Amino acid sequence: MIDRFKRKINYLRVSVTDRCNLRCVYCMPEQGVELINHKEILTFEEIVEIVRTGVEMGIDKVRLTGGEPLVRRGIVSLVRMLSEINGIKDLAMTTNGVFLDKYAESLAKAGLHRVNISLDTLDPEKFRQITRVGNVQDVIRGIEAAKTAGLIPVKINCVIKKSPQEEDALQVANYCKENDLQVRYIKEMDLEDGIFSKVIGGEGGHCAVCNRLRLTANGKIKPCLFDDLEFDVRELGIKEAYLKAVGQKPRSGTENKINKFSNIGG
Ligand code: SF4
Repeated sequence: MIDRFKRKINYLRVSVTDRCNLRCVYCMPEQGVELINHKEILTFEEIVEIVRTGVEMGIDKVRLTGGEPLVRRGIVSLVRMLSEINGIKDLAMTTNGVFLDKYAESLAKAGLHRVNISLDTLDPEKFRQITRVGNVQDVIRGIEAAKTAGLIPVKINCVIKKSPQEEDALQVANYCKENDLQVRYIKEMDLEDGIFSKVIGGEGGHCAVCNRLRLTANGKIKPCLFDDLEFDVRELGIKEAYLKAVGQKPRSGTENKINKFSNIGG
């Protein structure tokens, strides 16, 4: 699919749940956020149909996100169903890594190609402060399990305030160098205020060449993370929702007053 600005749209980020086992301070308040009613959450069959139609229209890169995708029950089955769709060249997942130690092997066997794992600090106390409930050792074990299972390249998403020169970011960079991992830096963003920047070492935030659409866990196709526009596949039909999303994809992001990072998967 080609949009009005001659950008090739071939990448779909699929949020499979708005639930998460962590409470990262830059993503959600301590008490959590109002969750999407279970009845509204897309079934696996619906997700597969939406992705299959997308592939017929030009999507060849699919990433599973959340919330935290590994808290969605049966996630390995969903990966298997998606991996059977001809035409997906890259099937990836973004995870906080806490449950990866348990799932890495079966995800790889089910057809997942690679993972991006969130890691902002190696300091156990700071990790606890940032995630409010997490243990950094769980993530380290998850990274090792991903490498052992062949979910490579393993990329590390490191959230920074302003610069990769920040102490924690330097430690993460060092750890990545020592462990053959690729690090990318994501500056803290604010959807409502439209504060965002290019991912350092990655593709996100490069509006001029943006190739992505997002599917929310309750079936809305969004042409842009930093925009309120969304098209309901259940109301419009899958194909029509894609066509409208690509047809109205903005030149660049502005602000998003209707979504939370936790229900759109960044
Ligand atoms: S802000 Fe919107 S247009 Fe820009 S890179 Fe992000 S999704 Fe693409």
